[in-house]
Amino acid sequence: MNADASGPRSSRGKSVLFCAECHFESALTDGWLVVSDSDGRTIVCPECGHVADHRSERSAPTPQPAD
Ligand SMILES: [Zn+2]
Repeated sequence: MNADASGPRSSRGKSVLFCAECHFESALTDGWLVVSDSDGRTIVCPECGHVADHRSERSAPTPQPAD
């Protein structure tokens, strides 16, 4: 029932990613294993190997501005 947003430690500059399996907590660019392959990038937890996120590069086409 506590609002954790009112704590003294509310200064989060980075986007922190959490592992659902072992509760590993770190910034995405500082601690997580980023596995790049031909299909995109996979974010893997360094503690338990849980795949926290997968981002496909091919499914995100770059919009070209009609100039
Ligand atoms: Zn984990």
